[in-house]
Amino acid sequence: MTPYRGTGAGHRAMPLDTPDAEPEATSCDVLIIGGGPAGATAATLLAERGRSVVLLEKDHHPRFHIGESLLPLNLRIFERLGVADRMAAIGVYKPGARFVSDEHGSHTAFSFAAGLNQDYTHAYQVRRSDFDQILFARAREAGADAREGVRVLDVTLDARAGHHVTARAKDGAVAVFRPRFVIDASGRDTVLAGAMGSKARNPHNNTGALYGHFRGVAPFGDAEDGNITIHLFDEGWFWMIPLPDGVMSIGVVSNPGFFKRRRGEPRDFFMDTLRSVPSVARRIADAELISEVTTTGNYSYASKVMQGDGWLMAGDAYAFLDPVFSSGVLLAMASAEMGAEVADTWLDDPVRAAPLARAFERKVKRAIGSLSWLVYRINSPVLRDMFMNPSNRFRMREGLVSLLAGDVHVNANRQVPVLAFKVAFAWLTLARRFGYRLRNGGLVRMGSG
Ligand SMILES: Cc1cc2nc3c(=O)[nH]c(=O)nc-3n(C[C@H](O)[C@H](O)[C@H](O)COP(=O)(O)OP(=O)(O)OC[C@H]3O[C@@H](n4cnc5c(N)ncnc54)[C@H](O)[C@@H]3O)c2cc1C
Repeated sequence: MTPYRGTGAGHRAMPLDTPDAEPEATSCDVLIIGGGPAGATAATLLAERGRSVVLLEKDHHPRFHIGESLLPLNLRIFERLGVADRMAAIGVYKPGARFVSDEHGSHTAFSFAAGLNQDYTHAYQVRRSDFDQILFARAREAGADAREGVRVLDVTLDARAGHHVTARAKDGAVAVFRPRFVIDASGRDTVLAGAMGSKARNPHNNTGALYGHFRGVAPFGDAEDGNITIHLFDEGWFWMIPLPDGVMSIGVVSNPGFFKRRRGEPRDFFMDTLRSVPSVARRIADAELISEVTTTGNYSYASKVMQGDGWLMAGDAYAFLDPVFSSGVLLAMASAEMGAEVADTWLDDPVRAAPLARAFERKVKRAIGSLSWLVYRINSPVLRDMFMNPSNRFRMREGLVSLLAGDVHVNANRQVPVLAFKVAFAWLTLARRFGYRLRNGGLVRMGSG
């Protein structure tokens, strides 16, 4: 993608590698860049409304992707897309999330059924290759012109004169599109934000991850119960996500200092790290690594802009916060759902769509904001004490479970419990300054066990 230059009415990309003689352009109502969960969701909803939609995906499904643990609120979107049964067939039933701390010598499970939202009380863990393939096929089924192996190279945004998009297929064939509306759902490639120079690293969350798939990992308890397990350690945390056919996805998340200490191959460093934390080491003692080890560094960012006249960004193309609460796919699909509404309205009446687009932006930012408070504190000893000693005073535990379930849109029901949780955090931070910490549901002097 080449840099954008402002041209008054819109932004113009100056293509480096488009051919001199341009092929004939294909017109459409909406062009969507990227056929992951966000792109496929927007494509399905718009095609169902009779819009002509072109969905361009640079890879071919099925393909590997990280982001395997879903949240209960995803189920509502699956129902709306008509894929609930297909997701149930490929997913491992996920009743909740378990946190394990060797430092505390304890563990806690948060069951989604104990949350404030009783409509959706479980989720799934999925192989993203299967999951994304279903969503992409659904978009095609709904009538979208969904093309694989086609990479978007350049976009010129100009709602008045008509947007201009150039893409290239794997065989080298170049295609040109003249869409009325553009949705960027290109994930971490951040096609538009990259070109506009609007992408900014998140200064509060400078972490990275190392991950792979295993076979033969011991369950946390007597038998596998489908929970995601988060093993906390001094410098970060591990995820263990049970996938179909006895496969376990394992990843470690930490700060740059931790990854800088890496010596040798990523695989050796990964295995040594897993073996260094007792509760993790016990589970992988007889396990076999069956995939490549992948690294994603500095993954937290946001674009300074999210939408404009005749275009918007959905999912990771706008921002990614953190994997700790498994919220990425839900946020991506929910923003695509709202974004499809904006695009549909804009196609009929751009003036009526403007306030809707601003509301879309506010809602997406608020949803990310409601999770970021917890994400930024996940390594704080006070928050960890609270996770290991959960109290339901003022319905704090129920409020926390609702947040963990992805019930991220502001809701009066949840405000009081979440506020109570934050007040308790502030109070326990103060207590810690005076040498006290939370243990077994009460305050004890630090160092006294
Ligand atoms: C380490 C880590 C762990 C994570 N774990 C979880 C988890 O457990 N649960 C969870 O919900 N989320 C998790 N996530 C987040 C999750 O991966 C993303 O939030 C989610 O995939 C976003 O969906 P999306 O549709 O916006 O983008 P993507 O899923 O990335 O889809 C974007 C698509 O666009 C395509 N594309 C890119 N550029 C172009 C182009 N120029 N032309 C055409 N196509 C293009 C890509 O090939 C891709 O298929 C994790 C993220 C990280 C980094």
